[in-house]
Amino acid sequence: MADAPAVRFRDLVNLTGVQDLFPDVTAEQAEALSARASNLLADDPDLGDVHVVRGADHYSHEADTIGLDKPHPDILSHEAGHAQGIGRAGGVYKNLVRLSNQSSRINQLAAIPASLSIRALTDSTAVGNSVLAPLAGISALLASPGLYEETRATVKAVGKSPDKMKTFGQLLPPLIEHYAHGLAAPAVYLGQILASKED
Ligand SMILES: [Zn+2]
Repeated sequence: MADAPAVRFRDLVNLTGVQDLFPDVTAEQAEALSARASNLLADDPDLGDVHVVRGADHYSHEADTIGLDKPHPDILSHEAGHAQGIGRAGGVYKNLVRLSNQSSRINQLAAIPASLSIRALTDSTAVGNSVLAPLAGISALLASPGLYEETRATVKAVGKSPDKMKTFGQLLPPLIEHYAHGLAAPAVYLGQILASKED
């Protein structure tokens, strides 16, 4: 099987580049995507080198690669926002976002067992709460750089869109999902504390 051609962001300015990435694209979709890519590139020529692959919507700063599931201009804008943000940021911001995303995933897995075992360790609700409250705070704090980055990329994409309301409508549900994931762990800890205050 022949490998799909390697596509860079600058290739998306041409319809053939879009077709390399999405062979089944319609003419209308291809034009919309290449028009958006042209705008983004005119704004920030450095985006040209970023790799673009077909796959789950994401931006990987290790590989400087945007993944796109569908030829959707608004998602391209959002991921380009990550490429400009995390991709160009200094090490501190990059590491903070990466750490935040990793810890959100770990926190989500750990929050329920952790809060249950804290309850099991002590009969005292007050003592349990004194441990759970900082955990809620710490896990929310750890999630916040990742959520900040997601929000920043979406705000940037909306700002660049010719149809801001439509873009906002497209990008809001995935943003809410990020918040739900990022805040899942703090919510578990807070839920435990609140539950303990009810009789
Ligand atoms: Zn994102």
